[in-house]
Amino acid sequence: MQTLYDAMWRELGLDMEAHAGLLDFLGKAYRDIFLPQPNRPKAMGYFDFVVSEIHGLRVKELLEAKAAGKKVIATFCVFVPEEVVLAAGGVAIGLCGGAEVGFDKAEKHLPQNTCALIKSFFGFKLARLCPYIEVADLVVGETTCDGKKKAYEVFGELAPVHVMELPQCKGPADRSLWRSELGKFVGILEDLTGRQITAENLRGGIATVNAKRAALNRLAALRAADPAPISGLDALLINQISFYDDPARFTSSVNALCDELDERVAAGTGVAPKGTTRLIVSGSPMAIPNWKVPLAAETSGAVIVGEESCVGSRNSRDLVDGSPEDLGGLLDSLAARTLKIECACFSPNPERLDTVQSMARVLKADGVIHYNLLFCTPYAAESFQAKKALEKSGIPLLRLETDYSQDFGQVKNRVEAFVEMVGDRE
Ligand code: SF4
Ligand code: SF4
Repeated sequence: MQTLYDAMWRELGLDMEAHAGLLDFLGKAYRDIFLPQPNRPKAMGYFDFVVSEIHGLRVKELLEAKAAGKKVIATFCVFVPEEVVLAAGGVAIGLCGGAEVGFDKAEKHLPQNTCALIKSFFGFKLARLCPYIEVADLVVGETTCDGKKKAYEVFGELAPVHVMELPQCKGPADRSLWRSELGKFVGILEDLTGRQITAENLRGGIATVNAKRAALNRLAALRAADPAPISGLDALLINQISFYDDPARFTSSVNALCDELDERVAAGTGVAPKGTTRLIVSGSPMAIPNWKVPLAAETSGAVIVGEESCVGSRNSRDLVDGSPEDLGGLLDSLAARTLKIECACFSPNPERLDTVQSMARVLKADGVIHYNLLFCTPYAAESFQAKKALEKSGIPLLRLETDYSQDFGQVKNRVEAFVEMVGDRE
């Protein structure tokens, strides 16, 4: 079927037939998973629209921005600061990698036992299925886990890549390394865009991204209500969209949704009856269209009320202090915020366990699903500590390892058994 955007996709060099198949698959999955959910907030209509235009309108906007002289910067990780991209007059987009696409091609460049997220971003590029990668002027990576940092070396042969060196610890020398990496990033974006980054435009970038994070935090806080005013599936989707939608439009749409949720909370209405088993998901990030775990939980009689994840609290919880007057001070603030992120790539990383426990308390969770992608060693290793710490506080934890394969039945069986066990304790 011909669409409005065929000429645009052809020009970007996409594999038209495979791309049409991907959009059909995505559209059907979305219609089957999201639309039948009971009592969805009306304001989810905006996010439904964004997904329906996933490779359409937003890509067109990016091309228009490029035609107006802006640069598009693609990222894979919450350590790469969108604030600096905005200060340089650019547009930041998070590249997703949530589907088993082009893995056969990716495995010609990467070991088979690489996590699905990495194989997916390679696969999307190699199979010519991602318009965002094609639109990007620069892809910015980071030396987080071993899989990613080695993958960027190879990815650099396929697209222009800059890699930021993220330290593995959080001591004074590590902080100063990261601060200098931010300074280097400023220079790279200035060269690319021809625009000087000043205290004023960086402060503007900080304000825009802080507003987005504040809206996401407002949404996260509303989920403490019982009954839960929004499903975990919808909340995850919103967090996924936060990485590629226009930030100001996204922020106002999330705030409009939160206004509606405020009314629900006041009226005591929600998406599941009061007293439904409440779970938190913690661990590896879930990129679009990876909806497997919340789908399994929410079709097993539970509701997900929080995500301790980069597609969740790790991305939004802390804001950047925009009060310093000079550029150096603002970059110090940015560096300080990013180094609060509790990625399992850091060693040691005890703060993450404290965060999961405090989220469980605040959101009144009955249990935690520790989700990790197969071959994601950092989160798999931390899952043992997490289980010990959580169970000490009386909160059961399910260690769940999966990938993007068709194992929904097995995931669902394990999650269902966990929900039943947690429910019996209440
Ligand atoms: S889990 Fe770590 S490496 Fe992955 S996106 Fe989050 S911060 Fe980046
Ligand atoms: S999910 Fe784990 S292994 Fe995969 S890129 Fe993120 S940190 Fe690395």
